[in-house]
Amino acid sequence: MFIFGHLGIGLTLAKPWFRGLSRRLVLVGTLLPDILDKPLYYALVWATGKRGVELGLISGTRTFGHTAIFILILGALTLFSKSRVLGALTLGTATHLLLDAVSDSLTIMPEDGYVSALLWPFTGYAFPVQPAPTLEAHLLHFATPFFCGAESLGFVLLAWDFWIRRFKRSVSVIR
Ligand SMILES: [Zn+2]
Repeated sequence: MFIFGHLGIGLTLAKPWFRGLSRRLVLVGTLLPDILDKPLYYALVWATGKRGVELGLISGTRTFGHTAIFILILGALTLFSKSRVLGALTLGTATHLLLDAVSDSLTIMPEDGYVSALLWPFTGYAFPVQPAPTLEAHLLHFATPFFCGAESLGFVLLAWDFWIRRFKRSVSVIR
């Protein structure tokens, strides 16, 4: 999944658990694993000229931010600190990992050998290899009906949420 899919669908999934959390921070959380992992991988590709397994541990765009350990640490820090900021980021991140898992199960064939980073390091030292090793190939990967549909749905849900909140606010001002 890409940007609007995570933002719109993620926000919709997170709504029942909002309870006073910042909507903006939940939205940041819906993208947080990609904000952490994708720049890390592409910065290493850019800096070293290497790709995939040649890079060693950081062999793809799903590394530390896409692991169960990451969200468990975020969740534990939230409980320990009672921080609403961390709570919003944890909630958004949970939707990100869920949507990535769903989209993988619907789009990635087992013969591709692409295993989720979610269970790292319990499935081995290495992270999954980037199936599309260049940024261009990665972007082309999203030009499929599934990803276009998910992006469109996410955009519509986001626009609907924005419109509903704006409409409610203007009704309460009139009253
Ligand atoms: Zn992701």
